[in-house]
Amino acid sequence: MTTTYDPLDAVYTDEADVRLELARVQDICHECRRCTDFCGSFPTLFDMLDAMTEASAERLTPAQQDHVVSECVHCTLCAVGCPFGSGTHEADVNVPLLMLRARAMQFEHHHLGATGKLAARVLSRPDRIGRLASATPRVANAIISAPRGSRRRRLLARLTGVSPDRHLGSFVAQRFRAWFRARPKVTLHRRQASVALVPTCIVEYQAASIGKDLVKVYERNGVECSVSGVRCCGAPMLHAGDVDAFGKVAAKNISQLAGEIRRGADIVVTQPACAHVLAVDSAAHVSGAEAKADAALVAEHTYDSAGYLMSLHRGDDYVLDTDFEGETHRRITYQASSHVRARGRGYPSRDLMRLTGAQMEVIQQPSGVGGIWSLRTRDDADESVTRALTERIAAGNGTVVASDSYLVGLAVTERSEDVKVLHPLQVIARAYGIPDEA
Ligand code: SF4
Ligand code: SF4
Repeated sequence: MTTTYDPLDAVYTDEADVRLELARVQDICHECRRCTDFCGSFPTLFDMLDAMTEASAERLTPAQQDHVVSECVHCTLCAVGCPFGSGTHEADVNVPLLMLRARAMQFEHHHLGATGKLAARVLSRPDRIGRLASATPRVANAIISAPRGSRRRRLLARLTGVSPDRHLGSFVAQRFRAWFRARPKVTLHRRQASVALVPTCIVEYQAASIGKDLVKVYERNGVECSVSGVRCCGAPMLHAGDVDAFGKVAAKNISQLAGEIRRGADIVVTQPACAHVLAVDSAAHVSGAEAKADAALVAEHTYDSAGYLMSLHRGDDYVLDTDFEGETHRRITYQASSHVRARGRGYPSRDLMRLTGAQMEVIQQPSGVGGIWSLRTRDDADESVTRALTERIAAGNGTVVASDSYLVGLAVTERSEDVKVLHPLQVIARAYGIPDEA
């Protein structure tokens, strides 16, 4: 082992060291090939190696290595069940961490390319974009709702590095926090727990209806909600390779969340990629005993939306309301997002929706979607992974499709506009008879 995965170590972004480690791991992946269908990165690598008379990742050029890295959308899926993975095999393979390291090296040594640099500047600041777009939602939505590949979208891509082909959703006029502050005071019949919600940029600026349903479902179940002081988890900065900026955001977020936990709240994050970044990735980017202890506290107390309810439901002292008098479904197709799988806490969303009486069909197929960084322009973006997922969902027989990830839902609807993908808490809200307050 020649290298480090510690982002605080000076060698982390050393180009020669990163490229050596890429070659070491890529040779192992070349022999294994279990992840061929997970994303565009692996098939790109294998095609390059297969084109050699004597395949060896050491013989890949820096440009070829950078191309392989550029295809990674940081979904983390290849770490799930890797037979050569960290802690299970001496080869100590962790491709998601390697890709983060390689991206940081590319960022520091200016290997992102012109479009990548532009995307890093724009997409890394979703909070800033969200504030601007939700202040002028008509203008913002008119621009991003132009047909995929249209002139308006191509112009937007040139100016921002955002893909002209990805479905981008739309921005809300009333942000989630504004709705939360403005609603009438709620008195809980039986207070059972208390959470600080991290809405994430997605729910704050785009999918506020997910947050509204979540709050109503939680409060019906006696869970007192407040909104966390954390704004952006920093995922787009991390995935763009800007580790200095991410480190500052991570330190601030960890300190904020640890304070909220000490005041008696658990942390619930509405989007799984953001939950992963706050609970897992941030810890590696903070230094000092106190910050490390805070990060461990945050990791222990941070949950996905359904995971929190199910953890209470499985305890002894908690009663989950299972009186589903609203709209229920006989069969639900559930797409298990890669970040839910990476947390290794089972499928709490499946288990929660099953309580409504639905038969659950779980699709573990990769989506080709990570976080917001997946929305950048890529020269030869391989959409076959998302297309295959869409076809698999269409072949399922659920009367409703659910995914914890809003971005996966958007990607699925790109190809199949008839399919509406709901967040599991929206399924539960409708099952309680709570009307959709879109
Ligand atoms: S990441 Fe692990 S499972 Fe995937 S191809 Fe590489 S060695 Fe195999
Ligand atoms: S996109 Fe996902 S599966 Fe592919 S290399 Fe990156 S983390 Fe692994």
